[in-house]
Amino acid sequence: MSSSDEESVAWLRAEIGSDLGRWRATAKGLELDLPLEAVPYLEARDHAARCEAALAMLDAHPPVQEMGPLGEIITRCACQRWPESFPCCTVRLLGSGYKYRTGFPEAFANTTGSTS
Ligand SMILES: [Zn+2]
Repeated sequence: MSSSDEESVAWLRAEIGSDLGRWRATAKGLELDLPLEAVPYLEARDHAARCEAALAMLDAHPPVQEMGPLGEIITRCACQRWPESFPCCTVRLLGSGYKYRTGFPEAFANTTGSTS
């Protein structure tokens, strides 16, 4: 795992966390002004729930470092048996949803590859 990979995942986590804060605040504000079944409140609550799920997905795909066959340190995602790529395809796909954001890392531009 390069520092660029670490920075890419940190960038994604920060973007999702920022979205989560914004949607939670929106839902909380709407909760005060609208009946709880109102569409804007339900949409904001759903957006916040999706951000929480995305952050949980990132937590489920941490980097794992281990000793390679030649004694080198290799990095793989916890979901993978092989160290070919970190972040893994699942995290890259999650990140690809942020492609229109400023600072979008190239690590998420390639969404091909195995998730196992
Ligand atoms: Zn993974």
